[in-house]
Amino acid sequence: MSEKRVYTFGNGKAEGRSGMRNLLGGKGANLAEMNLIGVPVPPGFTITTDVCNEFFEKGKEKVVELLTREVTDSVRHIETLMNAKFGDPSNPLLVSVRSGARASMPGMMDTILNLGLNDVVVEGLAVKTGNERFAYDSYRRFVQMYGDVVLGMKPINKEDIDPFEAIIQDVKSRRGIKLDNDLTVDELKQLVILFKKAIREQTGKEFPTDPMEQLWGAICAVFDSWMNERAILYRKMEGIPQEWGTAVSVMAMVFGNMGNTSATGVCFSRDAANGENIFNGEYLINAQGEDVVAGIRTPQQITKSGSLRWAKQQGIDEETRKSKFPSMEESMPEIYAELNSIQDKLEKHYHDMQDMEFTVQEGKLWFLQTRNGKRTGTAMVKIAMDLLAEGEIDEKTALLRCEPNKLDELLHPVFDKEALARARVLTRGLPASPGAACGQIVFFADDASKWHEDGHDVIMVRIETSPEDLAGMSAAEGILTARGGMTSHAAVVARGMGKCCISGAGAIMVDYKKRTLEIDGVVLHEGDYISINGSTGEVYLGEITTKPAEVTGDFANLMKLCDKYTKLVVRTNADTPHDAEVASTFGAVGIGLCRTEHMFFENEKIKAMREMILSDTLKGREKALEKLLPYQKQDFYGILKCMDGKPVNIRLLDPPLHEFIPGDLEGQEAMAKEMGVSVQFIQARVNALSETNPMLGLRGCRLGNTFPEITAMQTRAILGAAIQLKKEGYHPMPEIMVPLVGIVNELDVQERIIRKTAHKLFKDEGVEIPFKVGTMIEVPRAALTADLIANKAEYFSFGTNDLTQMTFGYSRDDIASFLPSYLEKKILDVDPFRVLDQDGVGQLIELAVAKGRATRKDLKCGICGEHGGEPSSVKFCHKVGLNYVSCSPFRVPIARLAAAQANLEE
Ligand code: PEP
Ligand code: MG
Repeated sequence: MSEKRVYTFGNGKAEGRSGMRNLLGGKGANLAEMNLIGVPVPPGFTITTDVCNEFFEKGKEKVVELLTREVTDSVRHIETLMNAKFGDPSNPLLVSVRSGARASMPGMMDTILNLGLNDVVVEGLAVKTGNERFAYDSYRRFVQMYGDVVLGMKPINKEDIDPFEAIIQDVKSRRGIKLDNDLTVDELKQLVILFKKAIREQTGKEFPTDPMEQLWGAICAVFDSWMNERAILYRKMEGIPQEWGTAVSVMAMVFGNMGNTSATGVCFSRDAANGENIFNGEYLINAQGEDVVAGIRTPQQITKSGSLRWAKQQGIDEETRKSKFPSMEESMPEIYAELNSIQDKLEKHYHDMQDMEFTVQEGKLWFLQTRNGKRTGTAMVKIAMDLLAEGEIDEKTALLRCEPNKLDELLHPVFDKEALARARVLTRGLPASPGAACGQIVFFADDASKWHEDGHDVIMVRIETSPEDLAGMSAAEGILTARGGMTSHAAVVARGMGKCCISGAGAIMVDYKKRTLEIDGVVLHEGDYISINGSTGEVYLGEITTKPAEVTGDFANLMKLCDKYTKLVVRTNADTPHDAEVASTFGAVGIGLCRTEHMFFENEKIKAMREMILSDTLKGREKALEKLLPYQKQDFYGILKCMDGKPVNIRLLDPPLHEFIPGDLEGQEAMAKEMGVSVQFIQARVNALSETNPMLGLRGCRLGNTFPEITAMQTRAILGAAIQLKKEGYHPMPEIMVPLVGIVNELDVQERIIRKTAHKLFKDEGVEIPFKVGTMIEVPRAALTADLIANKAEYFSFGTNDLTQMTFGYSRDDIASFLPSYLEKKILDVDPFRVLDQDGVGQLIELAVAKGRATRKDLKCGICGEHGGEPSSVKFCHKVGLNYVSCSPFRVPIARLAAAQANLEE
């Protein structure tokens, strides 16, 4: 570690620069850089992020000792440039102390302003500035911030408001005034005394009067704030490593609260919500930084056009706007012109949209911060493509600028932001499938379909879902379940449909009998409205307005650019022609997984399916399968036609059979009638098929190997559909995939049935269709023996849902019972069903690819588990040499971007 711990800046010079953000944090690096390019910035210094790590390793005292000389010299540096002295009542210097990590974490850590004031210095400041009001306003703000951040003056009960705010409110209400600006100088003086008293009483601490002591307290508190709860949570959400640490920047104070020629504000070089290339922002005259964001005073617009738009939205007439809320462009035209030219300069310098903070002190503009601005998904794409068109960045940079997961926002309907802010959160679950939905509660799939047909929007609420609920899920606007994880059935299917879904919302209690749903004492009935946000997992009471997603031309252009730089291609998981079509429009180049079980859940099909399962003789099964054949053929015909000329990987029947049979008496009686047998017979079969551990039971290729006639029927349906299409002039490219293989013999037997059936069919029809037979690699044993399996399989598709389940030994349907606790205790960093576990499951994939290709050099390998649409997992797939990833239609663009980035980052 470098011995230099502090880097100074000021007066157009700096020891740091923008390339040093790892060491100086984003803020520190940019403060240095702004000095170097001639932007007016108050002088100061930055303590490095390395010191933050030292702080947590060696402790406060040691770090203060290590820093003392450099910090003291750097304070002198500011004093010289500002021509003022820290702690000198006749000519005082005040400083701000701010955090700044490598990646921006807005509002997550602490800031202290006006540091250096005490009872004596404040008098000097009043004399020096000739502005007693300003001096005491600054002082009370300082005591407030320092008391909170450094001395730990927080609300005692979680229901309480901020203790300082409570004191201010008390003083204001006694005099019947509303605004802080209406407080008199005497009242401000009184506040300082009351604040200090409250601190003493609540924390037992004296407010420090020595400015150097104040400074050390503030520096240490900012380092400490790296470990506060919200910073930890934010890092977790954004994937920011703890070791990065925060830097601390100490800067000379400039004041926006020195009267009506002073101001403070925040501005953006482009619109962060929609990406439009429009300079925008807010400011307040005679105020300090936090006033703009805290919402106590109404901030005004910086530009005139912004101000006109704002007034229109607020229903404010032009006269009132001009007199009470003028834009900065109107009220401070010269400062505005300078601000506008610097914001433009900064954007051109960083080649990205900037989010900036500034202060105007008595007519002089100062920049306090610039950073690449946070933005929505829509804005992200527009800004990247615009900057590319403007020649500011090249194609590779444009691609790397876009965050794959944020594309999601462009694909799903979204809640109206204002409506959302007013809504009441009832509970939270797992954000299983993104999007926004609202509708009336229904509890049963058939009700969902019925209500939907009658023109209602519904949210289907279930304890858990089964394949039987599919029709209801498809009819519903969204799905909410009490149980299930991110790869639970509801989640997988919902994502496939691009349907909003929250699963595993443990706090909801569903009473199917009463048709009620209870959350923390709130009882909702069938027909009541709720809204759900599948992107955050939040459940809201009542209806919240939504807006449809927009797919813009920029988005399409970005996707085109991905194709230019990618190696890994993207297929889709789709079970219906509709899904296949949606995925095609998003650029899927084939189907990587067509799950056939979802096809059996409509009227006649489910009856025939049940008949097949409930029969206890080969003959009975064959009879039922004959009924199913035309339906299956029709389904495959639709999908192969829709994906004409592209590979369609169809998987043979996979789930445990008992999922298809009726569990209730009514259903059993219906089946008994349909098949002409007794209810007792049906019940005996239901019992015989029930399993203790269905996920490890009679499913996957074990079905086809136990009942070969199922495999034969499905093969006839797939290839029969392909033959029909070929006769009609199409170019079907079917692939037949065997699920859950663990032993090569399992595949061997299945492959022979498939080939034999195909051979006979081709002979009968006089048409041959080239097709491949491959296997899922989703059982650890298959990965370990991939060299043997590749003797039979023409391709591998990694089923990472089951592979994760079996590698960890976690049930994919029940992980919600312990996942939250595991995440909280940091036993797991992420849900392994969502983000591929590269260390464990990833090893099996890498090994299987290598072993498989040792046997069959050109073995095509893909992934079709849910991870195929998750960016870090897609990048891993690229790294280990997979040929394609396959994911839900609505994740295809995300996977395409991640795949292109993987290649560029290599
Ligand atoms: C898998 O296991 O990863 C897979 C794709 O199959 P399913 O989710 O249908 O079990
Ligand atoms: Mg599977």
